[in-house]
Amino acid sequence: MSEKAWRKNLINIEPYVAGEQPKNENIIKLNANENPYPPAPGVAKVLASKSATELKKYPSADAVPLKEALAKRYGLSAENVFCGNGSDDVLATAFRAFFNSDKPIVFPDITYSFYPVWCELLKIPYITKPVDEDFKINVKDFYCENGGVVIPNPNAPTAIGVGKDFITDLLDNNPDVIVIIDEAYVDFGKYSCVELINKYDNLIVTQTFSKSRSLAGMRIGMAFAQPELISYMQAVKDSYNSYPLDQLAIETGIASVQDEEYFISTVEKIKATRDKSAQEFRAMGFKVTDSETNFLFVSHPKISAKEIFEYTREKGVFIRYFNKPRIDNWLRITIGTEEQMETLIKIVKELIESR
Ligand code: PMP
Repeated sequence: MSEKAWRKNLINIEPYVAGEQPKNENIIKLNANENPYPPAPGVAKVLASKSATELKKYPSADAVPLKEALAKRYGLSAENVFCGNGSDDVLATAFRAFFNSDKPIVFPDITYSFYPVWCELLKIPYITKPVDEDFKINVKDFYCENGGVVIPNPNAPTAIGVGKDFITDLLDNNPDVIVIIDEAYVDFGKYSCVELINKYDNLIVTQTFSKSRSLAGMRIGMAFAQPELISYMQAVKDSYNSYPLDQLAIETGIASVQDEEYFISTVEKIKATRDKSAQEFRAMGFKVTDSETNFLFVSHPKISAKEIFEYTREKGVFIRYFNKPRIDNWLRITIGTEEQMETLIKIVKELIESR
């Protein structure tokens, strides 16, 4: 590399790495926590009804019609809702809006690996608190002085959730900072703290259409909070991009939110497949955490996670392996259809029996 003076001013960052995208359509893709079922039928209807001419206009700047639909679904007002390009965009906006203290923000050591990336990008100091050997988060670790708190509930990739007592304890002990609860997987879980936003003015809850609503490709995410916090997020968004949600995202999002019956039936199907698959993995000798998400977190006592990952990949099933401290012998497996899970389980059984 030549000694160009401008090189010293280039950004020095290690980006987040998403799950591998297969080139071949026959691959069973269980590595990105996508939903195996299509979105609500109304979504296809919206897409079929569109003409390209409509795209010549800008969409609603604040995605107001979608905010209204979400507010109705959650018993809130539209001022309690922020929308962005997937919850990644929503979280990045929240980090920018709320984490401007000199004190470090705090999150668990094993968690969504995008948090440290945003901290590096936005120059936010951070510390992590180790989860215990069962991957449980100790709420008391988060009583420390800090510049903000981020906790996913349920956590990823551990799949473990916490209940209302944990969240209220966390909030009661952090009244002076913003607390973000990342609920990307909450629809498969047991407790959502959206009900607490009217009680706690420092609580932000983020969710997504990517998992339970089968719309990862549309990039729709949202945050729920008191109007003051939402207005700060809106100000950040309007300082870099006024129109993050395109017209198709707004309209398909509304169609999804309005079909509660389809939503419930899809989530229930995935939960049933998850619980059945968890049993089968346990029967093969795996440790499996109690999943409250649309994925399993598993580890085999004899065969390394890396070997299982490479073996299933070779056989056409992609699952997720993280080469990271503490979890490098664990695998994250997205719940697919019953049939896809049976195929995976058969392949893993083959490997175990070949030993
Ligand atoms: N939070 C967590 C914990 C996640 O696992 C993901 C998915 N990668 C996201 C947020 C972001 O998802 P999306 O941007 O698709 O809403």
